[in-house]
Amino acid sequence: MKNKLHTNDTHKNDTMRIAVIAIQGNVEEHIESAHKAMEDMGIRGEVLPVRHSGTIPTCDAIILPGGESTTLGRLMAREGIDIEIKEAAAAGKAIMGTCAGLVLLAKDGGEQVKRTGQKLLGLMDVSVDRNAFGGQKESFEIPLEISMLDSPYNVVFIRAPVITRVGPDVEVLASFNDKIVAARQGNILGLAFHPELTDDLRIHCYFLGMVK
Ligand code: GLN
Repeated sequence: MKNKLHTNDTHKNDTMRIAVIAIQGNVEEHIESAHKAMEDMGIRGEVLPVRHSGTIPTCDAIILPGGESTTLGRLMAREGIDIEIKEAAAAGKAIMGTCAGLVLLAKDGGEQVKRTGQKLLGLMDVSVDRNAFGGQKESFEIPLEISMLDSPYNVVFIRAPVITRVGPDVEVLASFNDKIVAARQGNILGLAFHPELTDDLRIHCYFLGMVK
């Protein structure tokens, strides 16, 4: 049984195009979840894996999967995808970053981000700490209250980051052990966990509801 998000926020357009940055990480899982969420919400459209520049400007929304944020950031810059994502954000297109994707969305980061000098997109007014759940808790799954969902969601953390600071325009959506793990700033959604690794489509449905 799939959990559905009951929302009036359905998309009015005929077709929707979602870009999934396909450089690293759980690309296939995100594509599948986005497809199923579209089906559930009665939205027609396509989900496109994106490795090069040129496609993002034709899309309505972007998903930035997990992986290794240093590598992802470097390869996105090499392909010119970073600029396209920034332009899409400025145009109000919906963008969801999960795990390493959240790191890349952030404005700045803690010691690890500073040490590696990695480039961030800076689209969310948040600071992040990478690999914030160390040791035996590197990977785990736990039910968590998320503010826009009416029952707990099983979140999967894999060497996850946390948000250590939020700016005034950022809405905190979920915390775990007093650490912020989900937040939204307008058209941008940042999650420390992996909604693509569960069968629960509510997060992807919520994201589709953000698409204009
Ligand atoms: N630890 C990775 C990073 O900071 C993120 C891990 C993930 O995306 N699963 O880039």
